[in-house]
Amino acid sequence: MSRGSSWKEECGVFGVWDHEDASRLTYLGLYAMQHRGQESAGIVSCHEGLHLSHKGLGLVGDVFHEPELLSLQGRMSIGHVRYSTTGQNLLANAQPLLANLVSGPVALAHNGNIVNSKQLRSGLQDQGAIFQGTNDTEILLHQIARVPSSDIVECLKKALPQLVGAYSFVLMTHDKLVALRDPLGFRPLVLGKKMNEKGQWSPVVASETCAFDLIGAQLVREIEPGEIFWVDKNGEHSERFAPKSINTQHAKCIFEHVYFARPDSIVFGRSVYEARKKFGRWLAKEAPVDADVVIPVPDGGIPAALGYSLESGIPFEHGIIRNHYVGRTFIQPHQSIRSFGVKIKLNPQSAVLAGKRVIVVDDSLVRGTTSQKIIALVRQAGAKEVHLRIASPPTIGPCYYGVDTPQKSQLIAALQSIEEIRKFVEADSLAYISLEGLFAAFGEAPVPGAKSFCAACFDGHYPTPLMDGALSS
Ligand code: AMP
Repeated sequence: MSRGSSWKEECGVFGVWDHEDASRLTYLGLYAMQHRGQESAGIVSCHEGLHLSHKGLGLVGDVFHEPELLSLQGRMSIGHVRYSTTGQNLLANAQPLLANLVSGPVALAHNGNIVNSKQLRSGLQDQGAIFQGTNDTEILLHQIARVPSSDIVECLKKALPQLVGAYSFVLMTHDKLVALRDPLGFRPLVLGKKMNEKGQWSPVVASETCAFDLIGAQLVREIEPGEIFWVDKNGEHSERFAPKSINTQHAKCIFEHVYFARPDSIVFGRSVYEARKKFGRWLAKEAPVDADVVIPVPDGGIPAALGYSLESGIPFEHGIIRNHYVGRTFIQPHQSIRSFGVKIKLNPQSAVLAGKRVIVVDDSLVRGTTSQKIIALVRQAGAKEVHLRIASPPTIGPCYYGVDTPQKSQLIAALQSIEEIRKFVEADSLAYISLEGLFAAFGEAPVPGAKSFCAACFDGHYPTPLMDGALSS
């Protein structure tokens, strides 16, 4: 499947039960998780058994204003932010998706990628199903609709085993809020509690804990891989839709910790900020170099650069200043725009760099375009030497589970040696943290003993069968 296809999605999901400010809390939760998706945003609330919805293309703050939030009445609400590589900026793909089933209305928000979606979709179309958008999330709605039960949890338990891949789902019916995570637990999903105006704890769910921080909710626990959690008028419930294996084999995405999640979130039970700092420390041990200053590529490289500086004793400085009013360079669809983006976004300062031997630390190197531009700018600012250190291993494989990495032909480390990459980015030296080092820093058993994480982008071991022609891309 090529990069231009519709099924690579980075997303954030949110849900809240029984709160007078349900849609407003959802808005804030999405706002905190804007980094997980910038293409579209949507909120569905439930008022007197009916679903009210507002979705739009763009950032949360652009899509929602006071009138929209006022119209989203009700004590229960779910929301979604989405970025996909599709290039088709279709409002039909904006989530939460809505459907009217025999049992009533259902709204659905998804983070992840179903790797057998093409097969499932064509099977459903053969049976007469009509799809509104091109995303893989609609498939679950069709599957639920085909189960002869009015109980959404029963429907889900029957439908979910057909899905292969990564999914954290939040659903809302007229009387239930449901949250679930695929059996391998690729994408994060956390359960929290927020005091409502009646002095009762209302359950909230979100992709990341930074959403809880903003709304003043407390983290309770993770939704477990293979768990279906729901809340209704009888209280909170939890069941497994996939058996817990004895040698618990999970595939939590290590890239959430490397790059994707916000550093102030707790993901898979660990602080993202601390993890990144540890990656930096380990990198300093594995790849030391004599230098005068350590600078991060902002913002992603900051915690790792701090770790590198602490471990090496070389001073940390903000040598590159970021313009915060420019979007992430990576999300620009065309190479030319992306390259330009680096220049308008990051400005190296001579006051820190002139005449210095500089260590530049970034969280990852994908195509190499960003590093190449940054190193050129750091040299223009007067640096004497530039040593590039990457706080993740070489990215050699595309992600089929919900992170937007390009296809193999564009991953520089899949095609070139480290020395060739060094020449391409024009660094005096280049080193990546090793995969073993990444997991050791993280406190996990070294690969291949590590059973908890998916590191397919770094080691090429995909934890599920890859369908839909994924391997051909
Ligand atoms: P590249 O120019 O392709 O090597 O991009 C590397 C830069 O993109 C690094 O500074 C990373 O912080 C950032 N990056 C890595 N992965 C992603 C991603 N999936 N989405 C957006 N940015 C990313």
